[in-house]
Amino acid sequence: MQREELKDQAEEDVLRIYERLFQNKRDRVVVPIENRCCSGCHIMVTAQDENLVRKGERLIFCEHCSRIHYWQESQALEGSSVASKPRRRRSTKV
Ligand SMILES: [Zn+2]
Repeated sequence: MQREELKDQAEEDVLRIYERLFQNKRDRVVVPIENRCCSGCHIMVTAQDENLVRKGERLIFCEHCSRIHYWQESQALEGSSVASKPRRRRSTKV
């Protein structure tokens, strides 16, 4: 019986994630991390999350908007444009 409860728990978690993803379907569900910010909700991700996403070993969900993060390789290519970018996006104070 305990095993079933555990299984239910896990499935519930997954279902909840999917539900939230589907609710967000009108937007992009899979978004890149830009300047250490989730490009979905523009809230800063933790360095730990950033590292996990960069490694790409598993799916990382934004803890704020539940979108799936991916690492944008092109960030390295256009690295020079980062320094010259004049606009700075202010992240919301937590
Ligand atoms: Zn987000």
